[in-house]
Amino acid sequence: MTQTLRNICWCGNTELTEFSPDYWACSKCGTLVSKTGLRSEQLRIQDDNHDFYGKEYWLSYQTEHYGFPDIRQRARQDLPERCLHWLRTLMAYKLPPGKVLELGCAHGGFVAMMGWAGFDAMGLELSPWVVEFAQQTFNMPILSGPIEDQQLEPECFDAIVLYDVLEHLPDPVATMSHGASLLKEDGIFIVQMPNYEEGKTYSEMVAQKDHFLDQMKSIEHIHLLSRRGVSQFFKNLGFEFLQFEQELFDYDMFFVASRQPLVRYTDEQISYYLLKSPSGRMVQALLDKSSEFNQLQVQYKNTQIEYQTSETRRAELLKIIEQQDQEIASLQSQVNATVTDLQQTKSQLTEAHSDLQHTQSQLTQAHSDLQHTQLQLNQSNSEVQDTQSQLVHAYSEIQHTQSQLTQVHSDLQHTQSQLTQIHSHLQHSQSQLAQSQEKIHNFQQNQLQQLQNQLNETETQLKVINVEIAAMKTSKFWKLRSLWFKFKGFVGLSTDNE
Ligand SMILES: [Zn+2]
Repeated sequence: MTQTLRNICWCGNTELTEFSPDYWACSKCGTLVSKTGLRSEQLRIQDDNHDFYGKEYWLSYQTEHYGFPDIRQRARQDLPERCLHWLRTLMAYKLPPGKVLELGCAHGGFVAMMGWAGFDAMGLELSPWVVEFAQQTFNMPILSGPIEDQQLEPECFDAIVLYDVLEHLPDPVATMSHGASLLKEDGIFIVQMPNYEEGKTYSEMVAQKDHFLDQMKSIEHIHLLSRRGVSQFFKNLGFEFLQFEQELFDYDMFFVASRQPLVRYTDEQISYYLLKSPSGRMVQALLDKSSEFNQLQVQYKNTQIEYQTSETRRAELLKIIEQQDQEIASLQSQVNATVTDLQQTKSQLTEAHSDLQHTQSQLTQAHSDLQHTQLQLNQSNSEVQDTQSQLVHAYSEIQHTQSQLTQVHSDLQHTQSQLTQIHSHLQHSQSQLAQSQEKIHNFQQNQLQQLQNQLNETETQLKVINVEIAAMKTSKFWKLRSLWFKFKGFVGLSTDNE
């Protein structure tokens, strides 16, 4: 295998700058140009067992170097995946029956699908082994060798499609110019190829582990164009109308190039043509299922996004719940502490209530005692008043008795005075008696007798008076004595003598 050292871009610019160990960068068109790569003549496979794009490239090289499935697996796998996507895009711009060519058709699956859809389809491959494989696998016409070598009528194709091919071409301008000559005036190219995001540096790609790094295989991918690059490339060919379509892989670009303004067909118009043939119906069924699958994939992606969003939300909520759990636990412990405090306060209250009741009962008792004492005091007061009044009465009686005693004393003095007078009278009478006795002696016996009688009588009277005095004395004394005992009774002295 011979590699060619390159120093020229497809656009003709030779002033290329270093981009990476294996690529130059063209500042004129924004293309990355491989420093090495195959020559155009190497695309003509002479030895399928040794040439680069020979048998081994399809059976082992891609698997060993890139981890791709081998061509047999891809012949099965590509049909429902890539081929349906490509066909949907082709039929948006070209409807059967048209003549279409796929450059680099590999196993020929897409050629077959275009044929089933109603197109007059053929493929082209470089390796005779692959051409045979494709013919046997899908029973479609497959051209062998570079397109420039084919015997094809000019302007015979409605569309030429190239999927993962253009970047492999050593001289893309020459090859695509030839292809353009094979397209009708309204014919189109449909191209899938790596998309170099112009401006991104190699070190940035390495740092970001950019998927595009996998496309920088310098032996195979000779030109890695940017969108600006392909626009310029196809404009140079006379295909100034470019429509970029949804790419299958994010490192790719997928576009339709036309000399004329592009007009899309509707799904109904596409179905109308597909349902005209039995195999077209099969393709329609596959497209329907593919649409459903794509919708489901979108839904799945959306669901995944929603799931991730909800997972994030769930994690946030879980955090909040955990936080709230902690708060609740804290509050619970506060509540428990408060309950304990309340119970303590309640028991203190109960105790205080009990003390209060006890104090109240003591107060009631004290009040009752007070009332009793008051009653006793009242009674004592009443007794004192009574005693006082009795004392006053007794005093009054004593005064009365004293006055009576004074009276009696006065009476006694008077009586004594009378007695003294009587005694005096008696002495006088005795003196008169003595005189009279002398006179009796001197005078008569009778008269003496008479005097004697008179004396007797006076003595009797004296006796009566004496009796009267004695009686009087006795009477006053008794009264006084009685009064004394009464007084003694009042003041609470013993009255046993009474
Ligand atoms: Zn260039």
